[in-house]
Amino acid sequence: MALQVELIPTGEIIRVVHPHRPCKLALGSDGVRVTMESGLTARDRVGVQDFVLLENFTSEAAFIENLRRRFRENLIYTYIGPVLVSVNPYRDLQIYSRQHMERYRGVSFYEVPPHLFAGLTPCTEHLRTERRDQAVMISGESGAGKTEATKRLLQFYAETCPAPERGGAVRDRLLQSNPVLEAFGNAKTLRNDNSSRFGKYMDVQFDFKGAPVGGHILSYLLEKSRVVHQNHGERNFHVFYQLLEGGEEETLRRLGLERNPQSYLYLVKGQCAKVSSINDKSDWKVVHKALTVIDFTEDEVEDLLSIVASVLHLGNIHFVWWCSSPRLTPRPQLLSPLNLEQAAYARDALAKAVYSRTFSWLVGKINRSLASKDSDSPSWRSTTVLGLLDIYGFEVFQHNSFEQFCINYCNEKLQQLFIELTLKSEQEEYEAEGIAWEPVLYFNNKVICDLVEEKFKGIISILDEECLRPGEATDLTFLEKLEDTVKHHPHFLTHKLADQRTRKSLGRGEFRLLHYAGEVTYSVTGFLDKNNDLLFRNLKETMCSSKNPIMSQCFDRSELSDKKRPETVATQFKMSLLQLVEILQSKEPAYVRCIKPNDAKQPGRFDEVLIRHQVKYLGLMENLRVRRAGFAYRRKYEAFLQRYKSLCPETWPSWTGRPQDGVAVLVRHLGYKPEEYKMGRTKIFIRFPKTLFATEDALELRR
Ligand code: ADP
Ligand code: MG
Repeated sequence: MALQVELIPTGEIIRVVHPHRPCKLALGSDGVRVTMESGLTARDRVGVQDFVLLENFTSEAAFIENLRRRFRENLIYTYIGPVLVSVNPYRDLQIYSRQHMERYRGVSFYEVPPHLFAGLTPCTEHLRTERRDQAVMISGESGAGKTEATKRLLQFYAETCPAPERGGAVRDRLLQSNPVLEAFGNAKTLRNDNSSRFGKYMDVQFDFKGAPVGGHILSYLLEKSRVVHQNHGERNFHVFYQLLEGGEEETLRRLGLERNPQSYLYLVKGQCAKVSSINDKSDWKVVHKALTVIDFTEDEVEDLLSIVASVLHLGNIHFVWWCSSPRLTPRPQLLSPLNLEQAAYARDALAKAVYSRTFSWLVGKINRSLASKDSDSPSWRSTTVLGLLDIYGFEVFQHNSFEQFCINYCNEKLQQLFIELTLKSEQEEYEAEGIAWEPVLYFNNKVICDLVEEKFKGIISILDEECLRPGEATDLTFLEKLEDTVKHHPHFLTHKLADQRTRKSLGRGEFRLLHYAGEVTYSVTGFLDKNNDLLFRNLKETMCSSKNPIMSQCFDRSELSDKKRPETVATQFKMSLLQLVEILQSKEPAYVRCIKPNDAKQPGRFDEVLIRHQVKYLGLMENLRVRRAGFAYRRKYEAFLQRYKSLCPETWPSWTGRPQDGVAVLVRHLGYKPEEYKMGRTKIFIRFPKTLFATEDALELRR
C-alpha cells in the first residue's frame, strides 16, 4: 500500500505524518529509528492546537485559517496558552462521553488534544493540590455555547469526582438544578433557541477528596419584560409551553388551563409557540422530575404551577373602562381613574413582579437544597470552591432596550476583568521572576465601563436622577440630560450629536454606544419605567395576603411599611456586578472564550466575517500577542528537570544540586541559544514553542 507522507524537519528529527498513525523518523549516527507517537492522531494535529504555535502569530488571517481548518475537522477547541477557544459546532460531536471524561481526567493538558475537560484539568488539579479556589469564566455572544459548556463541565466534575458522600445527593442536585433554572429562565430568542435570560454564577464546593459537597447559585437580572412581551420569532420562558404541552390533563384542569398556547396573550406575541429544536413535552417530564430531586414536595410543585398558571391568566385580563387605583392620600381614600393603557400597564407590572420574584425564590430554594449539610464539621472548612460563570452574552437586536443595555454593560465588565487578569497576571509573573518584557498595546474598555457606571456622570447615574423626578421626567428628558452630560464622549452618540452622515441611522429617541464588541443603538422608550420598576401599592398589598405559600414569601409585608426608596434596577445590577467581579478576582481564573460560527444555527457553516468580528472583540489577537510577546512556555525548574533530565548525562539519573543549576546544565547540553530562553527566579522561560517541541521530540525518541 502506498503511503502519502509529509516530511516536516524538526531539528535533526523528521516527523512523518501518516494519515492515521503519526510517527517519527530519527536519522541518528546509529541508523534510522522510527517511533509511533502516542495519544495524538494526525487528525488531532490539524492546524495548531495552541495558537501560540502559529508561525505568523500576528496575522488575523492565519488565526482564522487555523480555526477554520480545525472546525472543518470538527476540532472545535484550540488554546491560546491557558485560554480555551471554542467554536460552537451546532451538532452533537459525541465528545463528552464517559470515555472522554476518563481520558481527560487528571492528565496534564499538554498530553492530550485540546478539550473543554482538558483545559480545565489543571484547574481541578489546583483544587486538590494547591487548595486554591477557581473560577471558570465562560464568555461569548448569545448562542456561542456558554451554557452548553457550563453544563458539560458540571457533568464532568460530577461524574469524575471520587465516590460522593451521602449517596451522591449533592451531585444529583447540582445537575438537576439546571433543567429547572433553564425552564424558568431560558427562552427562544432570534439568536438562540435556548437563550439564558438571566446571568448565573455557580459555586461548587468540593471536600478534601475532591467530591462535591455543596453548591451555591447567584442569579443576575432576569429579563422579566419577556413575561408580557416577546419580539416576533421569540418565545416567552420555556416553562409556560412545557406546562401546557406536558402537564397532565388533571393538572391543567385544576389550574384552569387550556393546552393551546394560542389561548394566552402572553404566549402569542412572538408567533412561534412551536420550535423544531425543542420538545416541550419531554422537557417538562425532565423538569418535573428534577423538581423532586431538588427537594420540592408535591404541594410545593402545585404551588409553583399555580403561579405559572396565574401569570397566564393575568395576561388574558381585558379591561373595559372602569379602572381605578387608590391614591396615597390621608383618609378618606380617593380613587383615581386609570385609562386602559395604564390598567394594562399595572396588570403587566404585576405579572412581571410575580414571575421574577418567583424566579428569585426558586434560586433561593435551590440554594437551600444545595447547601452543604456539613457546615459545622471540619471537612467543610477544608473545602475548595470551583465557580462557573455563565452569563448572558453580548446582544444586538434590531430593537434594543433597557435589557440589552444591562446585558451589554455586564459584558463590558467581564471583558474588563479578562483584560485585567490576563495582562496583569502575565505582567506580574514576569515581574516576580525578574524577567524583562515588552508590554503589548490593547484596547482597554474601561472607558466604556466608566461611561456607564461612573458616579454622577455615568449613564446609570443620570438615569437614576431622572427616576427621582416622577411626573416631570420622561424617557426623552433622560436622553436630553444624557446628551448634555456626556456630549463629547468617543463611545457615545445621539441623533443630535451625530454628524450629517451618521445622523440618518439614529432615531430621535435613541442613543448609541460603541461597545468593545460593536455598536448598539438603544431606544430610550421604557428606560425610566423599567429602571423604576414600581408596582402599585394596592397590588403589593393584595399579593402580601396571598394564600399561596410561595407568593407570601415573595411579597413580604415589611415591604409595605418600608419608607426607604428601593434601589433602581440598574443600580442594583451595577452593585451585583461589582460583587461578582470581586468574587471572580478572589479566585484563580480559567477562561473559555466561545465563538459562534454562523447566525443560522447550522452545523458546518463557518461564517468568516462573523467569526473575525468575534475574534477581534474578544481580544483574542491581543491575548495571543501577550502570550507570545514574552515567552510561550514556562516551567518550574523542578518540573522541567524531572521531565527532561534523561537527555543529559550530567543530570541523569539524578541531579543533586539546586534544580536551577541542573536546568542550566541541561539546556546548555541541549544546545539552547541564549535568545531562546531566560532563567527566572523559580522557572525557566522558553521563548519559542519550537525549542520545547524539539526537546519533547528528543525525549520521545529516547523512550
Ligand atoms: P449561549 O449560552 O452562549 O447563548 P448555548 O450554550 O445555549 O449558547 O448554545 C446554543 C446552542 O448551540 C445549544 O442549544 C446547542 O444546540 C448548540 N451548542 C452549543 N455548544 C455546543 C457543543 N459544544 N456541542 C454541540 N452543540 C452545541
Ligand atoms: Mg446561555
